[in-house]
Order: sequence, then structure tokens, then C-alpha cells
Amino acid sequence: LTRHIIKPTENDSKDAQRQEKSIKQFQKHEERKKFHKMTSQTQNYRIKLICSQHGTELFEILVVEGEIQLALEKLSEWACPRPVEKSLLTLSAEAYVQPEPLGVVLIIGAWNYPWAVTLLPLVGAIAAGNAAVIKPSEVSCGSASVMEKFLPQYLDPDLYPVVTGGVSETQELLKLRFDHIFYTGSTAVGRLVMEAAARHLTPVTLELGGKSPCYIDRKCDLSVACRRITWGKFVNCGQTCIAPDYILCEPSIQSQVVDEVIKCIKEFYTDEPRTCEDYGRIVNQQHYRRIMALMEGSAVAYGGDADQSSCYIGPTVLKDVTAESKVMKEEIFGPVLPIITVSGLDQAIQFVNEREKPLVVYVFSNCKKVIRRVQDETSSGALLANDCLVHFTIPALPFGGVGHSGMGCYRGRHTFDCLSHLRSCLIKPLSMEAVNNMRYPPHTANKLSW
Ligand code: NAD
Repeated sequence: LTRHIIKPTENDSKDAQRQEKSIKQFQKHEERKKFHKMTSQTQNYRIKLICSQHGTELFEILVVEGEIQLALEKLSEWACPRPVEKSLLTLSAEAYVQPEPLGVVLIIGAWNYPWAVTLLPLVGAIAAGNAAVIKPSEVSCGSASVMEKFLPQYLDPDLYPVVTGGVSETQELLKLRFDHIFYTGSTAVGRLVMEAAARHLTPVTLELGGKSPCYIDRKCDLSVACRRITWGKFVNCGQTCIAPDYILCEPSIQSQVVDEVIKCIKEFYTDEPRTCEDYGRIVNQQHYRRIMALMEGSAVAYGGDADQSSCYIGPTVLKDVTAESKVMKEEIFGPVLPIITVSGLDQAIQFVNEREKPLVVYVFSNCKKVIRRVQDETSSGALLANDCLVHFTIPALPFGGVGHSGMGCYRGRHTFDCLSHLRSCLIKPLSMEAVNNMRYPPHTANKLSW
């Protein structure tokens, strides 16, 4: 592992010099141009890199390409000095914020959407002039091995090494000193990452999970709302960090919601999702067992069928779920949609606020006041009204959690800023010394009255 790490230690000054040189070189215009060429090459080879699944192309590769394109277009704007307002005493000076690279970033990826969660931070890390150690998830072993094989062909392997492996390899990496750790994964492991980072005072970005609630207002077009919710929930078999975890609605519309969701499940995945090409599988046996156990004790309104040998769990809707049921105790991260009835908006807001802050709060309503109340009276990484997941497609919107759903944010310029040090610079002339007299002792009455 140490062979891969570029970050210098105190007793490794040669490495330190080499790293400093590499990073400085990288900042130069020629190096930036080289980076542009490399990333366009990567784009050309994307067809060879990706698996044939439509979902990977749509939800990951296109997003990563968009991010690369954005960085190429905006890099000079992001990287240039940002002038700030000056005070009376510094009128003749130059005052600006100059983003500078942090050094070496450790990127630890999760297994769901492995390309997006690993390469999106990498694009920002490179754009900001950093070196990066890339640690894809061992669970999505196929994409991890493709990254291990192909990334070194298009990026300098000394600056961007890929380290594959599981828990023990990640733990070894976490013993080392980095300048930033960008972690995507579960809240439990996020805690361990933050503990390890604290030993070196390394800043972290934690992109975590949680239970994102989805409130459906009685006064909304239920068929459109349920169509969007069904898509957001069951895409990638529910293994999406920002999937609506559960529905909150009034009892009077519950059966209509169930019917509409079932209608959409059938439309999207046929009556036999098991044989439908657009319907996925649970990533492994461990997660299969975990999700199946979560359903225990809840009333199945639709689905519930499963096959352990192929890690198949059919799209499932649970109704009349209570806050105490197993399925409400942890992030579901699977194709199970519980419905909890509440007396109205007040109780829905209270329900959300009694729990950890989620990655997203979803609200479906025709009424602006309802949306506004949910926005004002809850807190979450993001708020999305009348759709699911699509806020992720706007790189100008910072993506991230708050509280137990995460720390820090990224996408586009936000990744650039997150992985840069925003250095305050004040460049003064040596002239106009008289202006400074007042601050130098002795502080005589004469000077103070001036
Ligand atoms: P995970 O925490 O199990 O694994 C993530 C990474 O951490 C992997 O690279 C793994 O090797 C490493 N890891 C696992 N256990 C470790 C340990 N004990 N010590 C050190 N490293 C360890 O998460 P996962 O199962 O891959 O991903 C699912 C979770 O990630 C869900 O909670 C989901 O909501 C969340 N997620 C969040 C986002 C986001 O952008 N906020 C995106 C995708 C997934």
C-alpha cells in the first residue's frame, strides 16, 4: 500500500519534494491541457468500460461525462483568484481568495452506482489539482477491477493509484495521513472513517445514507405522484441512497396510493418483474437476508415474493406500517416501500423531525403552501418537490447530507471547492506607511485622535 501512497510522511522528505513538484507541475497550464486530453480519451473509451446495462449508462456514465465536461469548461473560472471587498485600511491592496490544491485525497466509494460515487469526486479532485488514491467498493467487484485496470491507462498511476480490496485494505489506508478523505457509504462506517481521519486532523466529506421520507399531500395528482415515486423507489432495485425510503400520507388516500403504485410497477416491470430486463437484483446474499428480515411483521399490500438463490426480491409495497416496525428501524436500501399513515401535514412534519435528518425530504403537492411548510419546518440534505432523484442531475445544486446523512457536499464547482483550500490572500504595497501609524505603539492620545 505504501508504494501507492504519494502523501509524504515527516521522515520521507524525498517523497515530499516529489509530491510538491508533481502538484505544482499539475497546476501549470500545460498539465491542465494534458488532463483535458486524458479525460477526453477516457470519454472515447467509455463504451469499452461500461457494462451493457442501460441504467449504468443513464444514471452513471452520462452524469460522470457531464461532470468532466463541466470541469473542462469551467476550470479556469473556478481556479482563478476570487476578489473580495476591501476595508478602508486595505484599499490600496489586493484582497482575494485563491483556491489551492489540498494535496492527496483518499476517495472511498460505495458499491451502488460505483462509477458515479467513485469517479465524480475524482473529477473534482483532479480539477482542483490534487493527487488522489481511489478505493472502489469491493462489493461491486466488477467495476472495481475495471477501474483498477483502465484508470492507470489514462491517468498518471503515480498521482491517481487505484487500491482495490475490502474492509482490511480500507482500514490500512485509513491509518495513513491524507489531506482530505472523501467517503461514500453507510453512516456506521462513516463514523469509523471520521474517527480515523481525526487522528491526523484530516478533513472529511461524508456522503452517507438514511431514511428519506416522502409526504404525499391529499390534494395532488396521485397518478403522476405515484409514477414518479415508483420510479425513484424501484430503480436499481431500491439500492439508491436518495430513494424515497417510505411514504407518509393520510389514511383516506392510502389504498389509492397502493393501487397507483401497483399500476406503475406493472407498467415498468410487467406482471413478472423476475423476468423483466429492467428490474435488478439485490447486490448479495447478506443484503438479501437483511432486506427480507426488515419486512417481518408488516402487512404486504403487493409483492413480497423473493428467491434467495438469485438475490431476487420483487417490488414490494407495505401498508399500515407503524413507526415501531422493523422496516422503520434502518435505511431499507431495497425494493420495499412502506406506507405510514398520518393525520395530515402537521403530523408528517413531526414524524420527520423526530428522526435523524435525511438525505432528502420529498413532498408531493399541488399546493405551494404545503411545499413551503415542508421546506421551512424540516431539515435534510436536499428538498425535492413533486419528483424523485432528479436533483442529482443538476451539478449546480450541492449534493450531500446533513447530520447523520452526511457532512460536506459535492458536484461541479462544489467538488472543486470542497477539495481545494480557499486561501485568503492580501497583497499590500510597502508604500503608504503613514496609514498604519495608528496601530503602532505607543498608543498616544495624539495618534488615537487622528
Ligand atoms: P459501506 O459503508 O459498507 O462501504 C463503503 C466503503 O467503505 C467500501 O469501499 C468499503 O470497502 C469500506 N468499508 C466498509 N466497511 C468498512 C470498515 N469497517 N472500515 C473501513 N472501511 C470499510 O457502504 P455500502 O454498503 O458500500 O453503501 C451503501 C450505503 O452507502 C448506504 O447507506 C447508502 O445510502 C450510502 N450511499 C450514499 C451515497 C451518497 O451519495 N450519500 C451514495 C451511495 C451510497
